Amino acid sequence: MDNDRILLSWITQYVYCPHRLYLEAVEQYSADNIYTAEGTVQHQRVHEPKIEKRGDDIRITGLSVYSDALNLFGICDEVKCTVSRYGCYVPLLDEKCKITPTEFKHGKSGYEHKEYNLQLTAQAMCLEEMFNCKIEKGEIYYIGSKIRTEVQFTDAAKKKVKNILIQINQIIDGHAIPQAEYKKRCPKCSMYSICNPKTDMILRYIENLWEQYHEKN
Ligand code: SF4
Repeated sequence: MDNDRILLSWITQYVYCPHRLYLEAVEQYSADNIYTAEGTVQHQRVHEPKIEKRGDDIRITGLSVYSDALNLFGICDEVKCTVSRYGCYVPLLDEKCKITPTEFKHGKSGYEHKEYNLQLTAQAMCLEEMFNCKIEKGEIYYIGSKIRTEVQFTDAAKKKVKNILIQINQIIDGHAIPQAEYKKRCPKCSMYSICNPKTDMILRYIENLWEQYHEKN
């Protein structure tokens, strides 16, 4: 894989907070807190590569996926391949299958996590390119509540993914530096102490006031 490829997980990071993606992808900061550590432990199990077969369903966990067209790569938590003569040919199984990707997330499903939906859509776009097929829908499984939610891979969602990839490219190429903005989610962000969003906003506010002052004087 090329080093300049975009990681699938960066889509989630970008939608959560563009400044967070900048800190992680460009400044190379990494930080854990209780929320991210919990997610990492729960994810370790699903990222172990393995294949399980039950009837016509073959589940592959920890499958590496990529898209040359989107310059994107990453790992799918689980890809369910249902053997069907109407499906696409999956060389590693030597079967024709209908494909359904599933992303595992920690926590509970309470409201729509649009960042998760878009990351899953991007995974589907990788799988569509790899297996030359069309995938209609996937699932997000919330480990905390054991709830599965269905995600439709609409043209609108795919367009959003492509737009986000353009923004991410601009950030990693150094053409855009998204600023920190203090929001409700910030106290739960593992980058909080590195980012200091409140201090950053106050400094920018004061800089702005000085600029206005100098323009008038
Ligand atoms: S603390 Fe807030 S502004 Fe800073 S990286 Fe995290 S979410 Fe973004």
